[in-house]
Amino acid sequence: MRKKIIEFRNVSFRYGDEQPWVLRNVSFDVYEKEWLAIIGHNGSGKSTIAKLMNGLLFPQEGEIIIDGQQVNDESIWSIRRDVGMVFQNPDNQFVGTTVQDDVAFGMENRGIPREEMIKRINETLSAVGMQEYHMTEPHRLSGGQKQRVAIASVLAISPKVLILDEATAMLDPKGRTEIMSTVSEVQDKNDLSLITITHDLHEVVQAERVIVMNNGEIWDEAVPREIFAKKDELRKIGLDVPFVTILADELNAAGINIEREPLN
Ligand code: ADP
Repeated sequence: MRKKIIEFRNVSFRYGDEQPWVLRNVSFDVYEKEWLAIIGHNGSGKSTIAKLMNGLLFPQEGEIIIDGQQVNDESIWSIRRDVGMVFQNPDNQFVGTTVQDDVAFGMENRGIPREEMIKRINETLSAVGMQEYHMTEPHRLSGGQKQRVAIASVLAISPKVLILDEATAMLDPKGRTEIMSTVSEVQDKNDLSLITITHDLHEVVQAERVIVMNNGEIWDEAVPREIFAKKDELRKIGLDVPFVTILADELNAAGINIEREPLN
């Protein structure tokens, strides 16, 4: 039985007393070392969940437990060390004037000794295939390269959970595929729990488990194959199953056996 790393218990959230509830009674667990995808149409509450997971927001109702600690004012700093996030817009995530300064920044804030910092900069930039770019100014990088550096910066603080919130949304299809394969490698090597948040079902194929959000509530929770099987219902809540998945299933159903990776 795998250990729970994040627990949401009956969590409800709204952005102000007069505002509508954007999450209603949401309960789910994230396990150590698993890859969980959270999908849903725009405005379904995915980013709000991400922000609740690392204490950028607090729920009005229910509780959130991260690695055994309830999220509150006191636990917030250790929780932010455990849960690293990469957001959609790569340009909003840079603070350093060079790539290596940028990766160093989060470590400096946490008082990591210089020798250790240098070691981690080398390790994490290599892990994301950016070892040639230590001294490059971030604005010279492509969108995909910027996201790689953002991932390296998060890895440098050795989190237990890595959350990618629509982190590939601004990339071209090639950049997207490259980032997803980097992330998958990084997860394996670092024993991380990985949470990918997306409205693009292509990115769900490799996940072990999927939570589908709809209007602030959990609509379904299952392995990708089971989720994709509900393609007509998914379309009704604004989500399109990848064409290749439909095609592969239809060919298999017609007795034409094509090789493909298992979905889970
Ligand atoms: P998603 O990530 O699925 O697109 P969000 O969590 O960003 O959804 O948004 C859920 C709902 O909360 C939406 O209706 C959105 O308009 C609202 N919302 C998001 N951020 C804010 C905010 N800062 N203030 C008020 N409402 C917000």
